[in-house]
Amino acid sequence: MPQSEIPLEGDAAPLSVVSEERVALGVALQARADEVGRMVDRQFSESLRGEAFATARLATELIGRWLATDQAASTEEEERLARQGEQAILVDAELASVAKAYFAWRDCTNVVIAEEGARLQTSDELLTLAGNVVRFSCDGSLVRIVRQFDGTRRALQQRLKEEQANLAHRALHDELTGLPNRTLLTDRLRQSAFAAERKGTKSMLLFLDLDNFKAINDRFGHPAGDCLLEVVASRLQELVRGADTVARLGGDEFVVLAEDLDDPVAAAQALAERIHQSMRAPIPIGERQLHTSVSIGIAPVLADTDPEVCLAQADAAMYQAKRGGPARFESFNEVIGKDNRRRSQLADELRLAHQANQLSVHYQPLFKLGGDMVGMEALLRWHHPELGTVPPLEFIPLLEQSREIVPIGRWVLQEATRQCRLWQDEGRTDLTISVNVSARQLQDPEFCDDVVHALIQSRLEPSSLALEVTETVLVMDIVRIGEMMQRIRDLGVHIALDDFGTGYSSLLYLHGLPIDRLKVDRSFVAGLGSSERDATIIATVVDLAHKLGLQVVAEGVETEAELRAVVDMGCDEAQGFLLGRPGPAHLFSAGLRVLTG
Ligand code: C2E
Ligand code: MG
Ligand code: MG
Repeated sequence: MPQSEIPLEGDAAPLSVVSEERVALGVALQARADEVGRMVDRQFSESLRGEAFATARLATELIGRWLATDQAASTEEEERLARQGEQAILVDAELASVAKAYFAWRDCTNVVIAEEGARLQTSDELLTLAGNVVRFSCDGSLVRIVRQFDGTRRALQQRLKEEQANLAHRALHDELTGLPNRTLLTDRLRQSAFAAERKGTKSMLLFLDLDNFKAINDRFGHPAGDCLLEVVASRLQELVRGADTVARLGGDEFVVLAEDLDDPVAAAQALAERIHQSMRAPIPIGERQLHTSVSIGIAPVLADTDPEVCLAQADAAMYQAKRGGPARFESFNEVIGKDNRRRSQLADELRLAHQANQLSVHYQPLFKLGGDMVGMEALLRWHHPELGTVPPLEFIPLLEQSREIVPIGRWVLQEATRQCRLWQDEGRTDLTISVNVSARQLQDPEFCDDVVHALIQSRLEPSSLALEVTETVLVMDIVRIGEMMQRIRDLGVHIALDDFGTGYSSLLYLHGLPIDRLKVDRSFVAGLGSSERDATIIATVVDLAHKLGLQVVAEGVETEAELRAVVDMGCDEAQGFLLGRPGPAHLFSAGLRVLTG
């Protein structure tokens, strides 16, 4: 065999000695090869990160095979060949074809194998890697390089192995907490349902959602939120047995799968109690001590339940628990199931409700105590063709979840300001309109523009408009929402704090926010006849509010006795069924004309 040829195919005479001439060719190719080498490194690191993982593995196998066929095993032999500027390599048929393709790819048509080169269809990455192999094989100082390259190969293989394990782990675990993710949990749930069927074991699922995660994230930033999630994750892990699974589904949602329980209902409830207990300890984050709590929903893992159904049941129970207030737990039952089905039906149908003209705005009058009607509150209504009137407390949270509250709230604002201006034009020039707004609207950077736009379009004075914000909204995101409130207040629009007394904040904490008016929640007014405590609360609130320069409105006045009581306590205004129920605008248009004579 002529020395200038590398044996390309077959197993005949596998050992070839690289000649001076071949080395010269190698050197000529070096510049290009270096460029290719850099490309290889880049592509390799990209392919490790990305989807081209399989290609990289294939390439290392190829390299591995090449190195494995290197016959120059003894050091003396290697040294002897190196001294001669020669190197022995055994090139197998497959590597030879790849090498051919590489040369073709690099347009090295003058290379011996050029004429056969273009046939092989291989990816660019693989060819580049194979090219690198060939580059080494063309180099006179091959011995040392082979050794270096062998090291590189091992490092590459190690990295590939780690990456592979990492990918497998990442596919099944949550990155932040390291807990199993939804995929792994679903698998364990399936196994658990299977074990229930085969061996009659009993397992329970606990669905957890933090009660104030959004507030913590908004107030203290995402790193604090992440730390909180990590602490919650480790506290949960400490509470369960080794065989149980604690998973994170994403956001602030965690799931505990407690398996093989003797008395499953009692055990799950006891675990829920222990979870509440463990969350009570403050969580140190930086300089701060944060407090959190969770809402928990419990569902059984039955023999024939699909994991998704089981999760949905526990989730529905959690939702029910949350509706009762923070730090509660609830077990799934048929009523919750029905409730949940209705909620998802409503959520689906709500999407089309606005287009289908099923939404309207009703109005409820507001009176100055001992005086005249001073304003109207706009209240959104949904008239469902089959279900009848759906209460706002049921559908507004759904609008908030889907963020549809932003466009629909904008429409309510336009509708209400237009109607108020109409009433003013009919003669009640001092009539004001109150519009309820949700947190999502106040967090929308364009909300202030929406208000301006509604005022311009309706030609209503800013001072004739009041926005009602619930106290819980402020607890959620006081900085951003406070800024938005200030921008709105600067327009001359009034701001009322709605349902006061139902949230967690004190009046002093709210001082400094641009609020003009407090609406005391109707649960306090309803308790006036029977509860000394509620009477004291209202009296204290009225007193403090007045000192802070705020007006006080009593909500939900239903009886003469309640009316007298709120007058006695010094409330400024009142609203309630006794004074006027909410109704469509046309009802009041007639009434207003009578009032204005
Ligand atoms: P809210 O702003 O506190 O409105 C007062 C609620 O109390 C209204 O319920 C009203 O019908 C009811 N109410 C008034 N007087 C009495 C009374 O004497 N007794 C009793 N038992 N209830 C009385 P509604 O219309 O069901 O609205 C519930 C809540 O839905 C509202 O509470 C408000 O937070 C929210 N909401 C209504 N419309 C909108 C809207 O357009 N946007 C937003 N974001 N929320 C709205
Ligand atoms: Mg209101
Ligand atoms: Mg209210």
